[in-house]
Amino acid sequence: MTLTQERTLAAKLRPDFPILHQQVHGHPLVYLDNAATSQKPIAVLEALQHYYQFDNSNVHRGVHTLSARATDAYEGARDKVAAFVNAAHREEIIYTRNASEAINLVAYAWGMTTLTAGDEIILSVMEHHSNLIPWQLVAQRTGAVLKFVELTESEEFDLDHYRSLISDKTKLVSVVHVSNTLGCINPVNEIVQIAHQHGARVLIDACQSVPHMAIDVQAMDCDWLVASGHKMCAPTGIGFLYGKRDLLRQMPPFLGGGEMIADVFLDHATYADVPHKFEAGTPAIAEAIALGAAVDYLTNIGMDAIHTYEQELTSYLFQQLATLPDVRIYGPQPQADGSGRAALAAFTTGAVHPHDLSTILDQAGIAIRAGHHCTQPLHRLVGAQSTARASLYFYNTRDEIDAFVAALKEAIAFFGEIFA
Ligand SMILES: *Cc1c(COP(=O)(O)O)cnc(C)c1O
Repeated sequence: MTLTQERTLAAKLRPDFPILHQQVHGHPLVYLDNAATSQKPIAVLEALQHYYQFDNSNVHRGVHTLSARATDAYEGARDKVAAFVNAAHREEIIYTRNASEAINLVAYAWGMTTLTAGDEIILSVMEHHSNLIPWQLVAQRTGAVLKFVELTESEEFDLDHYRSLISDKTKLVSVVHVSNTLGCINPVNEIVQIAHQHGARVLIDACQSVPHMAIDVQAMDCDWLVASGHKMCAPTGIGFLYGKRDLLRQMPPFLGGGEMIADVFLDHATYADVPHKFEAGTPAIAEAIALGAAVDYLTNIGMDAIHTYEQELTSYLFQQLATLPDVRIYGPQPQADGSGRAALAAFTTGAVHPHDLSTILDQAGIAIRAGHHCTQPLHRLVGAQSTARASLYFYNTRDEIDAFVAALKEAIAFFGEIFA
């Protein structure tokens, strides 16, 4: 894609995001916290509004017109999500509140009931707390043992170390696809293949990949995959679990209640088939429908176009950051064309504490994140208490990167002088 095409893409899409067109502290907002949550296009806001204005009704329960419309829209969104990740069957998509809940679903319904003392679970040191704590709980309860894949020299997933950890004792491999801190893109196809050779199940945390690149769960052959709607232009309160249908059918329910049953007696019950077996109670109907609208929106742009454009931004971001003194970016360097890592940079500077940096940049209207980004063990490992993180999405521009880098440069110079 050329620069002109890139300008056209950004220019075309920014009007779809009303929130981006505002001033913060007297400056145009530059939103660079997309790895924490993305902004929502008008099409998604309208889907929410339309549901509540015209179709609001409970799903699966009524035969009246509104309930039928709500059910059609809710189930229609499931079809869209299934197609988006190329699931073989629509029932393989379970709506959850977010990715965290999706991982907990697998941890409780599968991990707690399947694993026994001495079984091994392989995670990596770069996991988000959402893909760490549930497995700590499973290990404490079942006696399963957690093992951690370490980083290579270039701060990426160490495939050789993974190969050395895996054995026939390994029952689960649960790893992140794209790290929200290092920005590395892990070789998930190979990770899955190796796990399956040892009879282990694989869960992929795709929170930072599903919004940014085309995902094909059949090609990946993972057993489960999770993502959050709010990082892919959809509202908060909705995410999904993909799981292979036979496996989901074998798993006992997670939460009990309405919607997830077939026949109920006072002392026992039979359960609905998947996906409803895992969707107890009234779901987040409007949010699920809006997730469908977000998927339509992203599909219309094209995930490959998004990915290519973000690579260009990545290349530019790293070029610009390289002009600053004393900035340490974590994770791998991108290739010259911006490929090989995600469009985000978690970094520290010698002169300014990440939290101070985030506060100073906010004064210039620039939103970046400071903290441990829910990867505390990883931060400890790389020797940083916290990092600052700029994370991009397809609606960000080179001009915004310029504004960010200029403000960063000023902050470093200012603090550098004070402490000199
Ligand atoms: C955001 C994120 C999560 C958790 O998502 P929630 O929406 O908070 O459940 C898990 N893993 C990664 C890599 C993330 O970026």
